[in-house]
Amino acid sequence: MKHPRKAWLPDLLWTGERFESDIAIVCDDKGKIVRLANERSLDCDIVRLRGRAVLPGLVNGHSHAFQRVIRGRTEYRSAERDSFWTWREMMYAAATRLSPDQVFTASRMAFYEMALSGITSVGEFHYLHNAPDGSRYEDPNLLAKQVIAAAREVGIRITMLRVAYARSGFNVVPNPRQLRFIENDPQAFLRAHESLTKDAAFDVCVKTGIAPHSVRAVPLDYLRILEEFAAEHGTLVHMHVAEQKAELDACRHEYGTTPVELLAREGLLNERFTGVHAVHITEGESRHLARAKATVCACPTTERNLGDGVVPADRLFEDEVPISLGTDSQTQIDLLEDARELEYHLRLEKQERAVLAGKRDSGIDSPARRLFECTTLAGARSIGHNVGLLEPGREADFFSIDLSDPSIAGWTIDSLLANIVFGLNRTAIRDVVVGGNQIVSDGLHPLGEEIIHDFVELQRNLWL
Ligand SMILES: [Zn+2]
Repeated sequence: MKHPRKAWLPDLLWTGERFESDIAIVCDDKGKIVRLANERSLDCDIVRLRGRAVLPGLVNGHSHAFQRVIRGRTEYRSAERDSFWTWREMMYAAATRLSPDQVFTASRMAFYEMALSGITSVGEFHYLHNAPDGSRYEDPNLLAKQVIAAAREVGIRITMLRVAYARSGFNVVPNPRQLRFIENDPQAFLRAHESLTKDAAFDVCVKTGIAPHSVRAVPLDYLRILEEFAAEHGTLVHMHVAEQKAELDACRHEYGTTPVELLAREGLLNERFTGVHAVHITEGESRHLARAKATVCACPTTERNLGDGVVPADRLFEDEVPISLGTDSQTQIDLLEDARELEYHLRLEKQERAVLAGKRDSGIDSPARRLFECTTLAGARSIGHNVGLLEPGREADFFSIDLSDPSIAGWTIDSLLANIVFGLNRTAIRDVVVGGNQIVSDGLHPLGEEIIHDFVELQRNLWL
């Protein structure tokens, strides 16, 4: 057995149930947690995290990293009614221009910001494949590899969910602004995915999955071929579902039913499936997801920014559908804000409080724990990394917070998690560790200055 390499000893540690003191995380030289131990029993190097509480690293279930370049550039009203669809035009303006190097620079900025906010793993829903004129690069994974390299340089884990995108929509003329996304041939798509998966086998921090973009962009025949492959290989499948009402209308027009109903009817929902958004779903559709043991990834900071609607998290929880969270459009990168918004949107809608509190024996419960599990365990399950809880056998991914930060001052041991979930400033996050490697120390990442400098340069060139 390998000798434990290092132990991390904070003032408090979140066990998944409560905060406890005098517990160190002991990890081996492969970056896995081998045990949780008190100080007296430690026989290796100790990193003391004084005045800090440690929690499992956050898992960002849904990201389009390059969209970081349009933050702040879509916040105005144009002549027509502004909506998701007008925002999408601005996103295309960026997507059609970025060079491979610029894809790296933009992605690295997004991942750097994620690392500073305690995110240690990301599911990247990646749909830029071709050159700007629509021609294939010699390596169809050129841009996917740029994104993976960006995540690894920052130091976070990534699941590359390579997107299948076959068409603009049912009976819709091809949109030249989508040329970089299109891969008409499902076999070519699967070959590219397999090649990426082979490369990923060399790095424990990189995993892969497939992501048929949506029912709109991938016709049923194509979907069936992808699912047949995924079932055979145990591949994770992510898909945008029911984000916009117009998407539901188009699906009804083509198939006579809604996206989730269609996927259920076709047997395409299962425990490997994550439906991203699931804003406009019925009670019946929630039950379909539950029966199939599928999961949902909500992205509330993006959904509020785009005016998508409210994820019916109460109904999904009632049916025991796990909900992970994603930063999606990168309009804000702060997964704890997504967690609190999941609850707050429902409060506004229902004019009630603590809507997502679970039913505990005491009859009194805070939604904080459930929301925190959305940012950790549910995300880990959805993107397939062995993280989300600080326990032996899992990867040593965690972050620390400054217990004297003004945003949580006055906490008690029982209210600390609720203070964090509902009130923590992102800047209170001090240390971030991925697989036993410290990537953020006292709020700083060693590449921070360079990453910001290159990104500012990119923005200047991109929006001339
Ligand atoms: Zn998305």
